[in-house]
Amino acid sequence: MPSSKPEKQEASDNVKVVVRCRPLNQKEKVMGSKQAVVVDEIRGTITVNKLETPHELPKTFTFDTVFGPDSKQLDVYNLTARPIIDSVLEGYNGTIFAYGQTGTGKTFTMEGVRAVPELRGIIPNSFAHIFGHIAKAEGDTRFLVRVSYLEIYNEEVRDLLGKDQMQRLEVKERPDVGVYIKDLSGYVVNNADDMDRIMTLGHKNRSVGATNMNEHSSRSHAIFTITIECSEKGVDGNQHVRMGKLHLVDLAGSERQGKTGATGQRLKEATKINLSLSTLGNVISALVDGKSTHVPYRNSKLTRLLQDSLGGNSKTMMCANIGPADYNYDETISTLRYANRAKNIKNKARINEDPKDALLRQFQKEIEELKKKLEEGKKKVSPGKMVEMQAKIEEERKALEAKLDMEEEERNKARAELEKREKDLFKAQQEHQLLLEKLSALEKKVIVGGVDLLAKAEEQERLLDESNNELEERRKRAEQLRKELEEKEQERLDIEEKYTSLQEEAQGKTKKLKKVWTMLMAAKSEMADLRQENSREIEGLLENIRQLSRELRLQMLVIDNFTPQEYQEMIENYVHWNEDIGEWQLKCVAYTGNNMRKQTPAPDKKEKDVSGRGMFSSNHFYLQDSFSFMTMLTHFLLLVL
Ligand code: ADP
Ligand code: MG
Repeated sequence: MPSSKPEKQEASDNVKVVVRCRPLNQKEKVMGSKQAVVVDEIRGTITVNKLETPHELPKTFTFDTVFGPDSKQLDVYNLTARPIIDSVLEGYNGTIFAYGQTGTGKTFTMEGVRAVPELRGIIPNSFAHIFGHIAKAEGDTRFLVRVSYLEIYNEEVRDLLGKDQMQRLEVKERPDVGVYIKDLSGYVVNNADDMDRIMTLGHKNRSVGATNMNEHSSRSHAIFTITIECSEKGVDGNQHVRMGKLHLVDLAGSERQGKTGATGQRLKEATKINLSLSTLGNVISALVDGKSTHVPYRNSKLTRLLQDSLGGNSKTMMCANIGPADYNYDETISTLRYANRAKNIKNKARINEDPKDALLRQFQKEIEELKKKLEEGKKKVSPGKMVEMQAKIEEERKALEAKLDMEEEERNKARAELEKREKDLFKAQQEHQLLLEKLSALEKKVIVGGVDLLAKAEEQERLLDESNNELEERRKRAEQLRKELEEKEQERLDIEEKYTSLQEEAQGKTKKLKKVWTMLMAAKSEMADLRQENSREIEGLLENIRQLSRELRLQMLVIDNFTPQEYQEMIENYVHWNEDIGEWQLKCVAYTGNNMRKQTPAPDKKEKDVSGRGMFSSNHFYLQDSFSFMTMLTHFLLLVL
């Protein structure tokens, strides 16, 4: 296990939840939608009014920080992401989630408009921040930065930076490094522009294979991961590596999915429930419940991968995005409730010192070894030495040819000997050259602190810094305002409580009673809401079960009518469930069933050839098919037994 430093901060400081409300968009304005959400940035509250039933009390939620429709991307970064990225640079793990209904600004918050500096989101801003920090580090600090980018869609993991976009990856676990993805590509990056290029590449791949991009992005989770390793001399005089992992997560849309139209995708998407997102909700509930002893991390790919981010070793920020319009009321309330629950998660973050999966140490060792080898070989292959050796071989060759009293056989042997020496000499030189190239490639991966790494991102870093300073000023002013507000409130309460007579006291009590009564009513309405939401959730799940049962019956119909009972039993005996990829697996399945039929012409084509002889031909094919089915199964049996 990686060693760890005791945490300095309170566990509750490690999870922050903020809410961001986007402005009304053009379409909503044209439609005449009303603004139902009121954001009070000073008090940190979000109030949602139900405009269609004005007698219902507005609902108010309080968060660490809230952002209104006019919030600036740079402020969002500096207030929410900056502290997390600073921690990651120190060796903590960090996670930033964007949660919310489709169209509320998750991607805008995480990525933003990358072509406009002021509109860039958290991910591109973090590039400038990270390399700005490295550029300012002390000269003897070494860094290694790498990124990976993946997507979870339909519980399948796809490497957005991988060469083969059709490949699905497995989630694995090892006791020393924890949960990881087998064969996920990781790119070492040297500067902010590199990182930006890689992000663009992954971005293009998000739409590969997607039939409907909108639907795809609203149902898939994208995780951009930046791993930063930093090596420094510790107080003990030894080099120590600290490693921080930053996950930047753009979650699938949180809206309830509509009913499935039974279409071609039916088989693959028999369920409209996004398993990863539902499990994320259940994980959060279990974590804050206090009574649950079991947290269902293992029930989905997303929660397995982000196990540390919730309730584990990570500094985590969740940005809940909401829309301002009245027609979004239900989804908005549901998002705010979700966020409200997430506030109570407690994480235990610690600096990861000398972890097992660090690459920097390994690279540095390889560099040392290469340097040593090169130093040793240098004398042998220096240009002077090469010329000298070659001249010597040439001289010996001449002497050999000049010698007259020699058997031809012996002479040939001597010639071959000389040739071999010459070849070895060249080989040594070539190897030396290869080592040199390897060294330079490795050295390029490791970044030395204190050099300029921003290039085009320099402007971005300046922007970020400036707005951060400005923010500090505003924060002070806001704090002042908040204090004044609180004082006024207190004063008002004090005055109220200065009873001069019994009558006034009675009045005061009535007032208080009224207040408590209102609170009771609000709580009651909240409970009714929750009940309603709960029953909607149950109805959704039941609908899903009904749909799956129907699907199952269809599959049973196909199986029972086309696969003999004894073969069904045989298959059941030899099949096993692979948890890593979430698939049933059958030994030697490549030699069975449809896989063996690929070479034979497709039946529908044949049917066309013999059109006119309908009944006969289809019967004929049924027999032929079941015949080959038997041979295939026998084949399979032979292979398995
Ligand atoms: P999501 O990823 O949650 O589905 P998007 O980020 O794609 O939503 O946002 C939907 C639309 O709203 C986009 O056109 C985006 O530019 C715009 N938008 C979202 N948030 C804001 C904001 N805070 N200010 C201005 N425009 C926004
Ligand atoms: Mg999006």
